[in-house]
Amino acid sequence: MLNNILGEAFRIAIGGHVRPDGDCVGSCMGLYQYIKENYKDRRVDVYLEEIPEAYRCIEATKDIKHEVPENTKYDLFICLDCGDKDRLGFSALLLDQAVRTCCIDHHISNTEFTDYNYIVPDASSTSELIYNLLDEEKITLGVAEALYLGIVHDTGVFQYSCAGPSTFLTAAKLLEKGVDAPRIIQDTYYEKTYAQNQILGRALLESILFMEGRCIASYITKNTMDFYGVDPKDLDGVVSQLRVTKGVEVAIFMYELETNLYKVSLRSKYDVDVSKVAQYFGGGGHKKAAGLTMTGTPHDVLCNLARQIELQIETTLDK
Ligand code: AMP
Ligand code: MN
Ligand code: MN
Repeated sequence: MLNNILGEAFRIAIGGHVRPDGDCVGSCMGLYQYIKENYKDRRVDVYLEEIPEAYRCIEATKDIKHEVPENTKYDLFICLDCGDKDRLGFSALLLDQAVRTCCIDHHISNTEFTDYNYIVPDASSTSELIYNLLDEEKITLGVAEALYLGIVHDTGVFQYSCAGPSTFLTAAKLLEKGVDAPRIIQDTYYEKTYAQNQILGRALLESILFMEGRCIASYITKNTMDFYGVDPKDLDGVVSQLRVTKGVEVAIFMYELETNLYKVSLRSKYDVDVSKVAQYFGGGGHKKAAGLTMTGTPHDVLCNLARQIELQIETTLDK
């Protein structure tokens, strides 16, 4: 229960992973609002990097802080949806400075880097885990919207296998609070800007199939991103579209962070464990969705990844 996690902490900070996604924003904003509304004698702040514009429909996002002020010491730092210290980015400072630390997460690769770690790798999302910590009756519409957003994003609108019976029950409870589900799904998940669609088209057009069609890969260089006027936040969803290709078991999408440094996203369709591939190269994630950064030319990166993916495909076939 949340009371046990908060204890006597008076000054509380919440943070999530770099390049925040829907679950990261949803879980942070849900917990933030709940504490603010129900623990009025405490002080709570939320720290995240710049978030995608579409998530601004969650009103409380206006309170997000993007910098840690000097000499701030919190009694408790809660990090959400984050599997290791490096992924905290600028908010790692809060982890170092807080009296007590706690992590609530669902990454199989979580390194248990805080004092109290509540990690459930089978959970659909961190947002669902947060819901389980709250008193149902005290959940307001604002909290419900945030948690619903998180669940929608990490389950690909309830499509992935991580969406189990408890996920649907949680979603139902949130709908009872009055969440406008079609609006959240349309405005934050499906809607794309013209530039986002163009870059998606470009990535699909230039994708390559290999390993007899079981693997698909595509990459976007910094030059191409500049040409279309997009940044990394605009590339969400490209890897999911690659993944749906018939016959494909593993999809790879990468974009250039700086010269010869690539952010790689891996997705699997059935049973191949891509978190193992990501962890091999210092990244992490879930069985069917994982990420990492790698150095080298796109060709080097792909060759290195291909070998590990092949091993995982073979391991899966042996089972
Ligand atoms: P992405 O491909 O960035 O959408 O990430 C897929 C999943 O893997 C998400 O749950 C991320 O939190 C996780 N992930 C992505 N990159 C990393 C990384 N470098 N280290 C650990 N986990 C990651
Ligand atoms: Mn996330
Ligand atoms: Mn998540």
